[in-house]
Amino acid sequence: MSEALSLSAAAAAAGVRAGELDPAELWHGFRTRAAGDDCNAFVWVAPDGEPPAIERDAPLAGVPVAVKDLFCTKGVPSQAGSRILAGYRPPYDATSVERLNAAGAPLLAKTNQDEFAMGSSTENSAYGPTLNPWDRARVPGGSSGGSAAAVAAGSAPWAIGTDTGGSIRQPAALCGIVGLKPTYGAISRYGMIAFASSLDQAGPLTRDVTDAALLLGAMVGKDPCDSTSVGLPEPVRLPSRSDLRGVRLGVPEELTGEGIEPGVLASFDATLDVARELGATVEPCRLPHAPHALSAYYLIAPAEASSNLARYDGVRYGFRADGARDLLHMYTETREHGFGAEVKRRIMLGTYALSSGYYDAYYGRAQKVRTRISEDFKAAWERFDFIATPTAPSVAFELGAKTADPLAMYLNDFCTVPMSLAGIPGISIPSGLSEGLPVGFQLAGPAFSENALLDAAYAVEGAIGFDAAPWRRAA
Ligand code: GLN
Repeated sequence: MSEALSLSAAAAAAGVRAGELDPAELWHGFRTRAAGDDCNAFVWVAPDGEPPAIERDAPLAGVPVAVKDLFCTKGVPSQAGSRILAGYRPPYDATSVERLNAAGAPLLAKTNQDEFAMGSSTENSAYGPTLNPWDRARVPGGSSGGSAAAVAAGSAPWAIGTDTGGSIRQPAALCGIVGLKPTYGAISRYGMIAFASSLDQAGPLTRDVTDAALLLGAMVGKDPCDSTSVGLPEPVRLPSRSDLRGVRLGVPEELTGEGIEPGVLASFDATLDVARELGATVEPCRLPHAPHALSAYYLIAPAEASSNLARYDGVRYGFRADGARDLLHMYTETREHGFGAEVKRRIMLGTYALSSGYYDAYYGRAQKVRTRISEDFKAAWERFDFIATPTAPSVAFELGAKTADPLAMYLNDFCTVPMSLAGIPGISIPSGLSEGLPVGFQLAGPAFSENALLDAAYAVEGAIGFDAAPWRRAA
């Protein structure tokens, strides 16, 4: 059995379809592992008992999936890592979850996350921090840290998360797995508990690039319940490319210099050499406004969050504070005790940035910067097929190392936020180790270039041959 659990999800699905693997065994094997997880990667695991009815011929062939807590799952706790949603069991499934189920992937577990996806370390969860399976004294990244740790530890074959400013790519990098943030609108946001609606995007966290393509293909599509969803112009193909001949890679100097750890830069440079050997041309490029992306993001995202989070008033969902004197006191007590410190910080920042006296100076300006960042990328696509950067400036850091310094925490998103603001896809693949910990390599492409991006990442992945050690150990 442990051999079956070590397979990639695509290989497991193929095994099920060929009649060589029993999907019920796969289900029980992963359920047992998830229930025994020692990284606090999960906030809910499917109960023991009959495995869900499984369609052997379905595209995902019964390979179970772990889902970030903020996706609504019918009758199953969906708390977005927050105390304010404690006990909330939605009456419906998020569209992505529904699509995965329909494609044959049953819900294995809900994964831990930073509260309302605000964070880069999964230490902002009301349900305790998640540990990195490579080194349990370190963070798995965030906010989809539970999903990343679960896949890296081998306690889930694959998982989904959300990325607003880096929350799929950065934890994937810190846990040595693959994470893809699709083009904004490729996947419906219906049923995702909202953080910043113009940025939030669901995507896969997987052991390899092929699994990412398979999972993405099952999730994409226009959805009448989300008017911003558009799907992808062509079906997602499984990647097959083994070289990069004719591919032009741009390396933005703004995102590959100051602030990036030497070990991360060394792995990045070695990966660029791999790309050259595969036939790519690699040239420096400029994204002049990228250094302002973080400042713009940390106005726009909190502004949208302050509006989205106004709905938590103790009346409609989850937690309600006891002993309030009157209605207003009930609202304030519920929010005081229901939200964690980072969420309150963002609500205050966002409310301030949107206030009538400061709207133009902060929010309006940040939106202008956002446009400039998109234009930088558009100009880059005239010369390049993809942009390459490290995914995160450092390897996984120690638990508690950055919790007292929000700005240091925000800097983790330095290389991922520009793509989020521009709405373009980005993928992180493991490029090797630095100090024994995984490093992520990010490739970003024009909107809707997912098939080409997956192909390029697949070629690089094949040439690197990264050994995903912790899950091998778990097997
Ligand atoms: N770390 C970033 C933040 O705290 C991004 C989070 C995300 O992508 N959800 O906002």
